[in-house]
Amino acid sequence: MTAPAPLPPVAPLRVVPPCDGIDLADAERAAREFLAALGVRTGSAARADTPRRMARAYAEMLSPRSFDLTTFANDEGYDELVLARGIPVHSVCEHHMLPFLGVAHVGYLPGARILVLSKLARVVELFARRPQVQERLTMQVADWLQTHLQPRGVGVVIEAEHLCMTMRGVRAGGASTITSALLGTLREDPRSRAEFLDLTTPTPSTLVGGRHG
Ligand SMILES: [Zn+2]
Repeated sequence: MTAPAPLPPVAPLRVVPPCDGIDLADAERAAREFLAALGVRTGSAARADTPRRMARAYAEMLSPRSFDLTTFANDEGYDELVLARGIPVHSVCEHHMLPFLGVAHVGYLPGARILVLSKLARVVELFARRPQVQERLTMQVADWLQTHLQPRGVGVVIEAEHLCMTMRGVRAGGASTITSALLGTLREDPRSRAEFLDLTTPTPSTLVGGRHG
């Protein structure tokens, strides 16, 4: 292919997550009442600080960090898959407010611009640190990259273990859930799609949930 014409530099996109207002004092009070209602006493020295720790832990799990998304002109006309594998995913399921943990593989087919790969982890964090379902998280990461990077294609695969499945209910310890979202050429071109899925899923037949479109 012919290399695209050089583009002017673009100022980094400052990504500041929306803050819905976390009231730590209120959360601590509520945590104490929540524990009391469950018969968990917090009167001992060892547990006196537990409601405060719970409040702070959840506040942290629900607060993504701001970051700058720096992109560069794709001067070399690189048009093969760019893939970051094994990005840590730490999120909280919105049904039980228990963590789900795993990894994300995020890839894109560059258009006019490329980005610093380490920033893909921040994009994952941006959407992971809120009450979530894995399918929506997967789509949001893909859609966000499609909007802000405008690549020719985006692929996101997330494999995670949900503590609400491991520790309660069916107690399916060790079971993982795989979701995927493929956009653009990674969805439409069979060769690109197969390459991406080969690199990101051990057995594509185990794919569940997610969206292809
Ligand atoms: Zn759950």
